[in-house]
Amino acid sequence: MRRKVIAGNWKMNKTPLETVEFLKKFIDLIKDVEHDIILCVPYIDLLVALELTKNTNIKIGAQNVHFKDSGAYTGEVSPKMLQDIGVEYVIIGHSERRAYYNETDESVNMKIKAALEHELKPIVCVGETLEQREVGVTKEFVTTQIRNALIGIDAKQMKKIIIAYEPIWAIGTGKTASKEDANEVCHWIREELHTLYGDVADEIIIQYGGSVKASNAKELFEMSDIDGGLVGGSSLEPEEFTRIIKF
Ligand code: PEP
Repeated sequence: MRRKVIAGNWKMNKTPLETVEFLKKFIDLIKDVEHDIILCVPYIDLLVALELTKNTNIKIGAQNVHFKDSGAYTGEVSPKMLQDIGVEYVIIGHSERRAYYNETDESVNMKIKAALEHELKPIVCVGETLEQREVGVTKEFVTTQIRNALIGIDAKQMKKIIIAYEPIWAIGTGKTASKEDANEVCHWIREELHTLYGDVADEIIIQYGGSVKASNAKELFEMSDIDGGLVGGSSLEPEEFTRIIKF
C-alpha cells in the first residue's frame, strides 16, 4: 500500500511572523496524523519553518530551485543552499512557474537532476490546460511532460520523486476535477512510469492538485491512483488544511 502524502503550497503568502502563527496552531492540530505532511513555503519562511518543525511530523519544502549550485543568477536560490539549511522537498515545474517564468520541460528536467544531486526530493508538477482537455489531448500532453521531465533519471532516483497532477484549469479557480477524471490521469501517469521504470511505478506517490478543500479531499484521496494532494489556497489556514489532511 502506498502512503498518502499531503503537501501544502503556500505560493507567495505569509511572512515569517505569520509562519510562526500558523505553525503554533498547526503542529498541535496534526500531531497524531500518520499521513506524510509537507509544507512548501516561500524562501524567506524556510528557516523559521525548519526550526519550528524540528521533531514534528511535518517536512519542509521550497517552491522552486535553480539548477546551478552558485553563480551570477540574481534573485535565485540554489539546490546547495536549500540542502545546507535542511530543506527536504522542492516543488518543480508548478504551472504558475511554467506560465509566468517561462519554465519548460527542459528546465524542469535540469532542476530535477540538480535537486536530486543535493538530496532534495522533487515534487514535479504536470497538468493540461482547459483547451487541451476539451480537444482531448490530455493523455498525450501529460505523458509527454512526464517523459521529458524524467529524461536521464534512473529508477533509484525516481523513487525519491513525487508527481503532482495538477490540471491548470483547476488551480486556484475553485473548479476541481471529478474524482474519476483526476484518477484517470493519475492512472495514465502511472502507466507511463511503468513503461519507463517497470514495477517501481507502483511505489511512486502521485498527488492530485487543483482546488482541493476539506469538502472534496476524501473522495479524491481515496481513489486508486491518487496518493494524496498538493494543496494551494486551502493550506493557508491551519484548521482547513488539517481537515484536508485528516480526510
Ligand atoms: C497549487 O498551488 O498547486 C494548487 C493546487 O492550488 P489550489 O489548491 O489553490 O488550486
